[in-house]
Amino acid sequence: MKICLLVLSLLFPAALAAQTPNERAVAITFDDLPFASVPTEEDAALGAMTERLLQAVHASAVPAVGFVNEAKLYRDGSLDPARVELLRRWLAAGLELGNHTYSHVSLNRVPLDVFEADLLRGETVTRSLMEGAGRPLRWFRHPFLHQGKTPEVRAAFQDFLNQHGYVVAPVTVNNSEWIFAVAYARAQAQGDLEAARRIGAAYVPYMQAVFAHAEQLALDLFGRNIAQVLVLHANALNADYFPALAAMLTQRGYRFISLDQALQDRAYQSPTTVTGSEGESWLEVWSRAAGLRPPQQAPVPAFVTQWAGTAALRGY
Ligand SMILES: [Zn+2]
Repeated sequence: MKICLLVLSLLFPAALAAQTPNERAVAITFDDLPFASVPTEEDAALGAMTERLLQAVHASAVPAVGFVNEAKLYRDGSLDPARVELLRRWLAAGLELGNHTYSHVSLNRVPLDVFEADLLRGETVTRSLMEGAGRPLRWFRHPFLHQGKTPEVRAAFQDFLNQHGYVVAPVTVNNSEWIFAVAYARAQAQGDLEAARRIGAAYVPYMQAVFAHAEQLALDLFGRNIAQVLVLHANALNADYFPALAAMLTQRGYRFISLDQALQDRAYQSPTTVTGSEGESWLEVWSRAAGLRPPQQAPVPAFVTQWAGTAALRGY
């Protein structure tokens, strides 16, 4: 531990300068709006799913940000008012929307100009909705957490974000919630409610292990808890299990904070470096830069992966 802190203090002097009280705080974000991993894409079901999710978020007083893929607002080439209405509900619930690109494209896999065009295409409806609510559109979340493979791409993209008034929304609590969500939606779609119940029951204990992992990384790197940022998705699993997830976090001592509040933690002044790795959290990138080997991620139970099937290999 002493060696770790020593290495870290050389790499990130600012990171160790301010030790905040040892409280636990987390900002919660939902990606792939208006929906991901649902048993059916019928309008009524999507409306009900969104309503349940937003009620659960509201009940726990979570100031969440939702990240939109506007491609999902279109059906048969036309903007679907029912799907735009799902986004309006997020705003009506007092939550903020951000940009997650139009078509969930990866900055590691397409040229920068293609990526930037997709990002701009993905702000049309969201910017209009946000401005209608009197709020600026400012958050950007990288799909797959892919941040670009070279320092040149990353620097050029940062310039682009600055020019367009976007702030990157980091993730420190990386996880495979989406595999549970794919499995849950498939079990429900096949009418196997017992399997869906088992998958849901395994979800919160899994997330508890995920948080223990992120807490340990923060402790190894900074010698304290940091304000964490969790990524989840707008899916049927969270519509049904977010109350249990929030209860677990509260019991673990977490306070729910906004993304703005989280980024005030000086940990976020630590540089992120190119690793060439796929989809890592900021904590994992910082760990690698400090020469630490992050402990193994919490495992997803085999029966959950089996239910998710080949979709689990696709990644989010
Ligand atoms: Zn995504």
